[in-house]
Amino acid sequence: MLPIRKRTLLALLSVFATGMPAPICAGPAEPLVIAHRGASGYLPEHTLEAKALAYGMRPDYIEQDLVLSKDDRLIVMHDITLDAVTDVAKRFPGRARDDGHFYTIDFTLEELKQLRVTEAFERNGQSTTQKYPGRFPLWKSSFQLSTLEEEIEMIQGLNQTLGYDIGIYPEIKKPWFHHREGRDIARRTLEVLHNYGYRDRTQKVFLQCFDPEELQRIDSELMPQMGMDLPLVQLVAENRWGEKQVEQEGYLINYSYDWMHEPGGLDKVADYADVIGPWAVMLVRKGDSGLQASQLRLSAKRLGLPVHPYTFRADTLPENLDGIGSFDDLLSLFIGQLAVEGLFTDHPDRVRTYITDRQ
Ligand code: CA
Repeated sequence: MLPIRKRTLLALLSVFATGMPAPICAGPAEPLVIAHRGASGYLPEHTLEAKALAYGMRPDYIEQDLVLSKDDRLIVMHDITLDAVTDVAKRFPGRARDDGHFYTIDFTLEELKQLRVTEAFERNGQSTTQKYPGRFPLWKSSFQLSTLEEEIEMIQGLNQTLGYDIGIYPEIKKPWFHHREGRDIARRTLEVLHNYGYRDRTQKVFLQCFDPEELQRIDSELMPQMGMDLPLVQLVAENRWGEKQVEQEGYLINYSYDWMHEPGGLDKVADYADVIGPWAVMLVRKGDSGLQASQLRLSAKRLGLPVHPYTFRADTLPENLDGIGSFDDLLSLFIGQLAVEGLFTDHPDRVRTYITDRQ
């Protein structure tokens, strides 16, 4: 495929993303609202309940993070380990690896379905602390893990019963880890998407990943082989997070995303991806007259590459953003001033209300 393919399709993509042709002489398009792990500000992330609640809040897309199980099923969850959101340590003691963590890929779907899911927590010795205090209480009610198929069937079912056209926004988590386990999570993801009709840009879908090499493989090998052409989103991480690791002299080290911020970096990304998904603070810098667009934001604009930053949380504002004292301030900066084309949020109702009120 020629690199130009991506750029020439960006305009078309905006048509399909909104479900209607862009009106002539209209103001700037409103950003896409992406429900980050569902309505995760209100119910445990990635549960079907959190996705159903998100659906009712009318986002444009609902996100699914994906990890493989032992029997090659795509499980909708954020981490490659089960420790932070389930009771796995109690239910399957002795199944942790040497590093003390319980890996999703070591459990079958049948086993995973036996786990209770709760709000994200951190363990300190015997006690546990809720990651976001004030969110849904720990261990209350009854939630479980689900597969990508189950979630797609629910969203497509709701599209049928309620009549909206809400899209999906799956993320392939840590393909480098899955490859080291002898698994091909990207191919499995594409197979499921293909089976459910997400094959090209006529459907409301974006496919995201933090791994540039895997996205290039999806773009140039897997999708052409499978007769697919989905819009791809290059997520941009801080190097220290270890979202992608590479082997060097027998050790795993964190991949460096520095090249994406350098001159010409995003030109390379635009050859295989249609959108970038950076950490929100990467799009701003401190200027003489307050917060301004960063080089990354300016480069993306020059290339016509939409930006879908993460993560907008009404209960946890980013640190070190001078003058941003409320969620509305934050939305005003990113939607009003920086004019982002989409945003991932734990509180899709708040973002939808903000967008509606400013129209
Ligand atoms: Ca994600």
